[in-house]
Amino acid sequence: MFSTKNLISKLIPTNIKSSQLDEQDILPIATTGEPVLTQKAVAVTQFDDHLKQLSIRMLKTMQAANGIGIAAPQVFSPLAVFIIASAPNERYPDAPLMNPTLMVNPRIIYHSIDIDDGLEGCLSIPNKRFSISRYKTVMVEYQNIHGQKIQQHLEGFVARIFQHELDHLLGITLLERTKIKKVGTYATGQEAQA
Ligand SMILES: [Zn+2]
Repeated sequence: MFSTKNLISKLIPTNIKSSQLDEQDILPIATTGEPVLTQKAVAVTQFDDHLKQLSIRMLKTMQAANGIGIAAPQVFSPLAVFIIASAPNERYPDAPLMNPTLMVNPRIIYHSIDIDDGLEGCLSIPNKRFSISRYKTVMVEYQNIHGQKIQQHLEGFVARIFQHELDHLLGITLLERTKIKKVGTYATGQEAQA
């Protein structure tokens, strides 16, 4: 068993194996129709125990659902927080394997002109896939669990996950995104879900 302190220290640098999942920390996931999914998230101002607990529970919930990303509104929290965790999968076998990364108050500083179309799924919209246009590369800024600002260049699949999760903080799910971009090709498959 891990203490909370150990889990927190592991949140950024080290993956948490599924054998370490604690079932009581796995949260229900909001699905289509829940108002929380279409509301704008609230900026985090307190980097406190509540944020740490939320982060751990989001991580466990995401891993239990085999997700590669999760945003706080998906677990009924209004806070501007998400986790991205790219990993190789059937649709993107070359996707980079990255440690789950917590991003607080994230934003895009600038982005490429080039866009890419790709199929996306969402933990909040089970068993559906949508073709979504995303910027190929983004320069992003976010705060870590201690409130320190971090700037990062993201590209390809990781940039796609970031943009998907950022949409959640803006109250935009794939259902709204397909209408915005008018690229709502419906498909089914085994793509990763975020
Ligand atoms: Zn999603």
